[in-house]
Amino acid sequence: MTDEIEVRVEGARKSDAGRGRARLPSAVQEQLGVLSGDPVIIDGDRLTVAKVWPGDGDRVIRIDADTRASVGANIGDTVQIRAGTVEDAADVTLQPADDRADPDPPTDAVTRELVDGLVREGKQLRVSGHGAYVVTETDPTGSVRITDDTAVAVEPELAAPGTTGDGGEAPTGAAYEDIGGLDEELELVREMIELPLSEPELFARLGIEPPKGVLLYGPPGTGKTLIARAVANEVDAHFETISGPEIVSKYKGESEQQLRDAFDRASANAPAILFVDEIDSIAGARDEDADMENRVVAQLLTLMDGLETREEVIVIGATNRVDAIDPALRRGGRFDREIEIGVPDEAGRREILSVHTREMPLDEAVDLDALAARTHGFVGADLATLAREAGMAALRRESGDEPVVEPGDFETALAGVEPSAMREYVVESPTTTFTDVGGLAETKARLREAVEWPLAYGPLFEETNTEPRRRDRGSDPRAVRPGPPDRSGDRLSR
Ligand code: ATP
Repeated sequence: MTDEIEVRVEGARKSDAGRGRARLPSAVQEQLGVLSGDPVIIDGDRLTVAKVWPGDGDRVIRIDADTRASVGANIGDTVQIRAGTVEDAADVTLQPADDRADPDPPTDAVTRELVDGLVREGKQLRVSGHGAYVVTETDPTGSVRITDDTAVAVEPELAAPGTTGDGGEAPTGAAYEDIGGLDEELELVREMIELPLSEPELFARLGIEPPKGVLLYGPPGTGKTLIARAVANEVDAHFETISGPEIVSKYKGESEQQLRDAFDRASANAPAILFVDEIDSIAGARDEDADMENRVVAQLLTLMDGLETREEVIVIGATNRVDAIDPALRRGGRFDREIEIGVPDEAGRREILSVHTREMPLDEAVDLDALAARTHGFVGADLATLAREAGMAALRRESGDEPVVEPGDFETALAGVEPSAMREYVVESPTTTFTDVGGLAETKARLREAVEWPLAYGPLFEETNTEPRRRDRGSDPRAVRPGPPDRSGDRLSR
């Protein structure tokens, strides 16, 4: 057994957000001599306490954004952990962590939610429906467990800055746990911008220019803005945002001035991330007739080139149409990296659904896996709407104090929400095989011949100088002859 172990901080699982859990791999639990449910003390810039849960990986601790703020650690940082002991708390005082939190929540609801939770002074936690709070006092002091007998009080004043996290400075209100299905993309963006913001001198020492910009591209509503905000939060950077269409102005020079102002504000608050949403509207390819666009693109180029290494400002651009961006902006030294934020697959949709139903009282019969399987083509924004509509349907159905969202509410919502991803964006390998289609032996054989053979045995056809069967009997150009609805056409194609 070891007293103290160094572990790397990773983001929490989506369903753990706001629950103050510390997931530890079993090897680490064994070394520390702790079991699931035991308290563990996490020591980063500050100390906090969390409850051990089973985890994965190697020397990794998975904690949510509030717990990360409590210890003053970001994803990728290392912290020390050790087994802890707790006493039952007689009194616990909370204060709002930011001005979005309810200053006067009903204390019985707060207590009910926190019972059995482990806290200590400085710990940030979340009460569903009311916001984030900081524990500012406990009796006894040290790490304590909240029980049914604990008197929990909420004081309305904001907790003093510096008690947790970055002291509430420029909170962007998005955490890694709020984003579903984009872990790899998040990691790429973070890698790309963390070093230039935190250790720009490294680049200078190597004699290379640090990256200045990242371009996120993909269909609308897939989470580009969300990623930029979450990363800014995670690397403790100031977040400055401009929306392309908003700064387009018919007055000469005004758009350029707004761009310059945004860059100035970012530099003044460095380290900073400057997010340019819908960048294609101001940075479209230049042409001879578009005077305004040309001037704005030229200004953007100048501003990006003028960002000195020491300024610690990174520009993140977001667009639905990457090809419409002026090629000069996509060269090295400007937007160095382009990262695609695509339409989520089934696993991604499942994660997004769990993010957006996290604070919903769900009936046990609600099957999120099945919903994820049925929502092909839905992007994050559609799934957020779906969850919200299901909540609204539950409210309309039940007028009591504690409405519960039932499977039928999701059905009502599904009838009203359309997938926004166009076909051309959606590439998902189906898992259906011929064995999933009953009967239709002849059709299957014909399909194999017409579709599978040319793909699988192309060289063989060439060698024997024969043509694969391109069309099915006669002149119908489709591989599958039309049939009445619901006769397996779709399933056969899959
Ligand atoms: P646009 O191109 O229209 O600006 P975007 O890609 O920037 O779209 P966001 O503004 O980030 O999309 O997403 C809109 C909303 O959809 C978010 O506020 C969030 O509620 C939800 N959403 C989108 N993607 C995700 C995701 N991957 N996980 C969780 N929620 C998501």
